[in-house]
Amino acid sequence: MLSQPSFAQLPERFYAAERLPQWPSATVLQTHAGACRDLGLDPATFASEVLSRLTGNPASTAPTSWALAYAGHQFGHFVPTLGDGRAHLIGEWRDASGRDFDVQLKGSGRTVYSRGGDGRATLGSVLREYLLSACFRSLGIPTTRSLAMIATGERVVRGVGKPGAILVRAAASHVRVGSFQYYACRGDTDGVRRLADYAIARHDPDLSGLNDQYLRFFGRVVERQARLVAHWMSVGFIHGVMNTDNMTISGETLDYGPCAFLDHYDEAKVFSSIDQQGRYAYGNQPNVAVWNLARLAETLLPLFDAAETRAVDLAQAHLEGFRDHYRTVYLSLFGRKLGLGESRPEDAQLITDLMHLLSEHRVDFTVFFRRLADVLQPTRGGESVSDMFADRRAWSQWAQRWQTRLGLEAANDALPAERLRAVNPVYIARNHLVETAIRAVEEEGDWAPSQQLLDAMATPYAERPDGTALSAIPSPQDIVRQTFCGT
Ligand code: AMP
Ligand code: MG
Repeated sequence: MLSQPSFAQLPERFYAAERLPQWPSATVLQTHAGACRDLGLDPATFASEVLSRLTGNPASTAPTSWALAYAGHQFGHFVPTLGDGRAHLIGEWRDASGRDFDVQLKGSGRTVYSRGGDGRATLGSVLREYLLSACFRSLGIPTTRSLAMIATGERVVRGVGKPGAILVRAAASHVRVGSFQYYACRGDTDGVRRLADYAIARHDPDLSGLNDQYLRFFGRVVERQARLVAHWMSVGFIHGVMNTDNMTISGETLDYGPCAFLDHYDEAKVFSSIDQQGRYAYGNQPNVAVWNLARLAETLLPLFDAAETRAVDLAQAHLEGFRDHYRTVYLSLFGRKLGLGESRPEDAQLITDLMHLLSEHRVDFTVFFRRLADVLQPTRGGESVSDMFADRRAWSQWAQRWQTRLGLEAANDALPAERLRAVNPVYIARNHLVETAIRAVEEEGDWAPSQQLLDAMATPYAERPDGTALSAIPSPQDIVRQTFCGT
């Protein structure tokens, strides 16, 4: 049984408490057993509890849902009131180790924050988030968890009619950079402080009550975001809408909209049709994270120090920590992708040179790293890595440097090729696979492609005999060149 969200104990200006919209024809489409079990939830019991909340018409008029207030910079443009326009927080869950999770429905109807929107979600957009978060869970990248998909039984108008659905998701919390901005832009320092206290109690309880708790808290958010973005980079992920309202305080990936994975390696790559300027391009994500964190720092300044100039200096010093932290995690993740257990100073250059090479030769990011193990331990019938480069000499020069460097690694229980295969995934939610899965479900009610993808992604490092189509480089006609919000 879910308990009342602790967020509801904050003053009323933090949310709109309402009765949850009712969906009499709702049915559970799918429950993610693995994600539920991570949290200690029994999948069937949990799904039926959520369904009964959506269809049960509770007799009492007490609020059963909370739409959270937040603001946000959307593509650099500040919007003072956004808020959950189609999402309802319905409860909180404490797992066996004492961690608390928000349980939220997305696509569950209008709220006071809906503005012109209909409060709904298409089944396609729900399935996209379900697939992507399952992929991130398997890859060990911090993310909100998709626990279940529910069909509303109604059509949603998006140009044409599409099946409507509700995503059930769990998050360490839904507090975002934009949540702080909501109070700061109203001059409500007390609101900022209360939210910071809430976030500290939730995410960094060890800091609670320290003299410099707010500053340290900010430092933790910086670290978590640096780590998260480094993880995204290490799998070629482009979030696509890194607005401040989509950046969590917990360091979890939030909101899978027009997101995509790189096909060929390209720092400047943008997929989203609404990102005309390339603000959220693959290689710009660390810069944007710093920009967003600077917006967070601005809201917290009064809590850092009463004297503004001193507060700014303190904030700046912590913000600068991003670069170091990001670089450390980035080098360690890419080092692991190259089979390097320990970090050496010369590794940074080796990695940079490789990225240039991949970029120049438009090499498929995911397939390249997966095939790298074959250089050390060829598999029968597999295409070789050198086939991926037009200029094989440039490739073999780099490969030689890499193998020399590998030779310096201390003895390890696992063979280098095994180490590579244990960290470079073969199955991820690649764009064309996600699009195919969505089309099959929306147009034909065929769940087979999405199930195949989910099954493969559950063990992303283990090759499957039936997995060739899921691990291949997409053919030119299958490549997804642009993604749309498609809400
Ligand atoms: P997103 O781009 O999904 O992060 O959403 C940005 C803002 O638009 C948030 O305030 C959402 O709640 C709101 N929003 C997105 N789609 C809808 C919708 N269909 N109905 C109402 N509000 C929406
Ligand atoms: Mg959002």
